[in-house]
Amino acid sequence: MKEEGRIDSAFLEGSASWHAPVFISLGSNIGDRVKNLNQACALLAKGDGVSGDIVIKSSSSMYRSSAMYDKNQPYFLNMVCCCATILEPLSLLSTLQDIERALGRNHSPERFAARIIDLDIIYYEAHIIAQRGLCIPHPRLYERAFVLNPLAEIADSFCDPRRDCSVKVLQQELGIQMHAAVKI
Ligand code: ADP
Ligand code: MG
Repeated sequence: MKEEGRIDSAFLEGSASWHAPVFISLGSNIGDRVKNLNQACALLAKGDGVSGDIVIKSSSSMYRSSAMYDKNQPYFLNMVCCCATILEPLSLLSTLQDIERALGRNHSPERFAARIIDLDIIYYEAHIIAQRGLCIPHPRLYERAFVLNPLAEIADSFCDPRRDCSVKVLQQELGIQMHAAVKI
């Protein structure tokens, strides 16, 4: 299916209804990673300030993994939150980027650079979105144990709208990499 340029019409009408489940992955590989992840969760759920309009319904444990793309980088801690939000996908992305900046992330031009905090939208209900600057489901989730392991902990039966199979099946398919993200 051609996805480029596609966005569901529901988001073009500006209705302010709640959307759930929306899965957000969080990662950190600089400084006090536990503190960084906890601060990001607090900002996500904040009723005022840089965020708002997001409710965290459940959170996974934190998982430790070695850096996947640049082996010279320090280790990561990652987790996934299941949220409800009234923000449409692009506004949600911009709120996540506000939170990243509030926690001190400087966006390096280098791809996969070390980061104090990284917030990605993994799923937004069952929507498939592909437009400039935003791709949902997150295109690299299928190769990432550090996403699939925490996601499976809180939502193993959620159906991936692109692959039309459960998160548990995606995790099993990745199999060989399962050891690479360990619950702390
Ligand atoms: P990465 O998360 O891939 O390591 P960045 O955090 O620097 O890299 O994000 C790079 C760009 O990815 C962002 O500017 C954003 O526009 C884009 N992006 C596309 N889809 C998503 C998504 N589902 N969640 C978060 N960012 C996304
Ligand atoms: Mg990111």
